[in-house]
Amino acid sequence: MKKSPYTKPLIESKFWQNKSLADMSKDEWEAVCDGCGRCCLHKFIDEGAQDEEASESEPSKAEEILFTNISCYLLNDKTCSCTQYERRAELVLDCVSLSKENLKDVYFMPPSCSYRRLQEGKGLAHWHPLLNRGKKSKMHQLGITVRNRVINENDVDLNDFEDYIVSWPIDPIED
Ligand code: SF4
Ligand code: SF4
Repeated sequence: MKKSPYTKPLIESKFWQNKSLADMSKDEWEAVCDGCGRCCLHKFIDEGAQDEEASESEPSKAEEILFTNISCYLLNDKTCSCTQYERRAELVLDCVSLSKENLKDVYFMPPSCSYRRLQEGKGLAHWHPLLNRGKKSKMHQLGITVRNRVINENDVDLNDFEDYIVSWPIDPIED
């Protein structure tokens, strides 16, 4: 099982208040992830909406993408964590592994994503584990994590994805 990234020294340092994402150490970077699991949902580009806008540009934000409640087969739907975190990029080719090098992809993450929040200057939300003694329980309670809201991709026919489109991954969330 992956060790919790929310260590006491990191929590006490409050590094997220005075460091940009680009300046964070590896451990700090890992601890910014709130572990919501929302980035592990299947997504599709809304081509109809793109045609209406007569734009050939790629979508620039998650809000322009259709989210489903179908999860990657490697997501544990109770803990909302990846079961193969170290090998994720190798096992799932379209897994978005955010890094300092691809920070522009942060806008493809849901608005609640803590990397996106920091990049947009919003700070961490009150439910983030770094502000809750390293625990995700508040996130589960508030429905920030995907717990009890998803179905594993192995249990659905992905051709029927339209039946699984949901808005909650991009709906506004109270800070
Ligand atoms: S959406 Fe962002 S904060 Fe949530 S699990 Fe994915 S990378 Fe982490
Ligand atoms: S491989 Fe892991 S981190 Fe990547 S989408 Fe799947 S469950 Fe999420």
